[in-house]
Amino acid sequence: MWTPDSWQKCPVEQQADYSDNHRLQQVTHELSSLPPLVSAHEVDRLQSYIAQAARGEVFLLQGGDCAESFEDCNPATIHRKLNVMLQMSLMLMYGLGKPVIRVGRMAGQYAKPRSAHTETVDGVSLPAYRGDLINQSDFNQQSRQPDPDRLLKGYSLASLTLNYIRAHSDQQLSDLLLPERWSANELLGATAQTWQQKMLDEALQAYTLIERLSPQALFPLTEFFTCHEALHLHYEQALSRQTNNQWYNLSTHLPWVGMRTAKPDSGHIEYLKGIENPIAIKVGPRMSVEWLLQILATINPNNIPGRVTLITRMGHRQIHQKLPPLIEALQHHQTAVTWICDPMHGNTELTRSGVKTRFFHKITEELQSAFKIHQQLGSTLGGVHLELTGDAVTECIGGTCAIAENDLSRAYHSLVDPRLNLHQSLELTLDFLKLTQE
Ligand code: PEP
Ligand code: MN
Repeated sequence: MWTPDSWQKCPVEQQADYSDNHRLQQVTHELSSLPPLVSAHEVDRLQSYIAQAARGEVFLLQGGDCAESFEDCNPATIHRKLNVMLQMSLMLMYGLGKPVIRVGRMAGQYAKPRSAHTETVDGVSLPAYRGDLINQSDFNQQSRQPDPDRLLKGYSLASLTLNYIRAHSDQQLSDLLLPERWSANELLGATAQTWQQKMLDEALQAYTLIERLSPQALFPLTEFFTCHEALHLHYEQALSRQTNNQWYNLSTHLPWVGMRTAKPDSGHIEYLKGIENPIAIKVGPRMSVEWLLQILATINPNNIPGRVTLITRMGHRQIHQKLPPLIEALQHHQTAVTWICDPMHGNTELTRSGVKTRFFHKITEELQSAFKIHQQLGSTLGGVHLELTGDAVTECIGGTCAIAENDLSRAYHSLVDPRLNLHQSLELTLDFLKLTQE
């Protein structure tokens, strides 16, 4: 029988190795008595939007940091992240002609899967950095020691982040509708092109008209959902709550499972199968049809639309070979899923000097290919999943803002994967819209 702790009997990977288990028990006990961060009602509403996305009626914009850091829980950083998500939503909604649903990798994206348990620098090996929920990134023994008290801090900062978003999105949206906020040079960089300014002008005109005719029509744009990788199962278990005889994870609206923890018999799949939240599954080039069908049968035995989102992250080359067979197999089995494309994680590479980066043109190429492949197969691309920030970082190479390899050291702040900056995020959005309108 499923219970919030039944995962503990299964093989579990990617967990923190705490030295103080007694403190871990105390902390999770305390977490389980604190208020939930989101409501079951909101979670159900997101699930119905995800079902609509599969039918092409709405579009999902999922985005945020690879890993949120505790330090970034400050008004300026949250404000900029919310701004870029809202600005992209306005463009997508105008260009696609359908509502856009925002899901931030925010308010809880604090735990990371790592390929190696340890990190070695100059012959010294320490536990890997696993995200601020678990330990600290500084390379010394004390910082890298997993600390259970960080779970309480993560919960509190997630709650403060969410509170900021809920309190400010109305005003931020109104501010975004001011004409001076629609200059292509500001939004996309000094080398913005005429077609980009034209698209922005047309969108502004449309929103100005809507605002005059019916300001309430813009209200849904302030609705904001959150997601994070449901990786740290003690934390997820502690934030599980029962309402009307059903269990929800109320730390986030949309938990997802990564490939590293998605084996059919894993503790992660066991935990996720029992909660009512919509579940997202990352799907990389190693995912076989059999593997996918097996986890879908476990997570969604009744084939409920909106229950499962598949986030494909194949890489700009492999997508052509790897995505079509999966789409076709699920079409054949009439399996209800919502497809979205993560064009970031299959396109990560190291520069010659060992810096993790991604090329803007490969990211846009994978997203555009995903759109075309779904279209050709009579399927629907229901959304996009991005690692982005509103800050002027230099982590991904390319775009009209022309970030070169040499620029990476200038403003590289991510502790894990490289993110699109504001200019690159908006340029990607406009390039995508241009393709969908061809
Ligand atoms: C991520 O989304 O940050 C991540 C680790 O992705 P994936 O599991 O797809 O590699
Ligand atoms: Mn990442």
